[in-house]
Amino acid sequence: MSGRSAIVTGAAQGIGLAIAKKLHEHGASVALVDLDGDRAEQAAKELGGERVLALACDVTDEAGVERVVRTAAEEFGGLDIHVNNAGITRDASLRRMSVEDFDAVVTVHLRGTWLGVRAASAVMREAGRGSIINISSLSGKAGNPGQTNYSAAKAGIIGLTKAAAKELAHRGVRVNAVQPGLIRTAMTAAMPPEAFAEREAAIPMKRAGEPEEVAGAVLFLASDLAAYMTGSVLEVGGGRLM
Ligand code: NAD
Repeated sequence: MSGRSAIVTGAAQGIGLAIAKKLHEHGASVALVDLDGDRAEQAAKELGGERVLALACDVTDEAGVERVVRTAAEEFGGLDIHVNNAGITRDASLRRMSVEDFDAVVTVHLRGTWLGVRAASAVMREAGRGSIINISSLSGKAGNPGQTNYSAAKAGIIGLTKAAAKELAHRGVRVNAVQPGLIRTAMTAAMPPEAFAEREAAIPMKRAGEPEEVAGAVLFLASDLAAYMTGSVLEVGGGRLM
């Protein structure tokens, strides 16, 4: 990753922070992007001052996403890796879910990822190389009760990934997705403990995953080890829903 530059969205905590750390440890310059600019600054400090940038941005904001990509590309002298990781949940049964809950989740995941793919690929196609990684979820593969909004958005990210991969392949830009299973972060800490335990028990490896274990798959897809992979979906779920 030495000499490469990366943007990671939703990087103030959880999986995004682990991805930013992993890319940085392996030598990349990394822009940590988050809705919460103060926490992004804090996270950037954890990585150390060198080759790091913290940027506040809402991934649903068209002008904001374009500004982030432009800033990172100017600061780092290009853009090689873009990870669309920012996400939210607003779980509820169909009977209880509001239109606002549906729209909020679909907008952050789908519009946010699409804006990121569009802005990053505009820079990468000019350079003739680049790797975009979109964070989906096993919830988008199999569907989870209480997550009709989230499962729809995460499945949509797969379609987006494959369509973009086909458009960009001949320009040297690869687009892949990762589908994490149950990972220990603030997002899953918000689940009722019984629901978490029940999901964990159903995993063949009998444990939830750690953010670093998702970051490893992202590092692989970002690197030249995955040079012939585009439009693929890597599952990081301890064997769940295979
Ligand atoms: P998290 O809640 O710990 O972190 C998400 C980060 O995204 C936060 O820092 C938040 O401020 C940021 N964010 C939210 N909305 C944003 C917006 N509009 N613009 C910019 N930043 C925004 O969540 P996590 O568990 O680390 O999840 C990261 C990604 O992985 C998400 O896309 C999530 O759907 C996905 N995922 C998580 C799990 C899991 O088990 N934790 C499983 C599968 C997929």
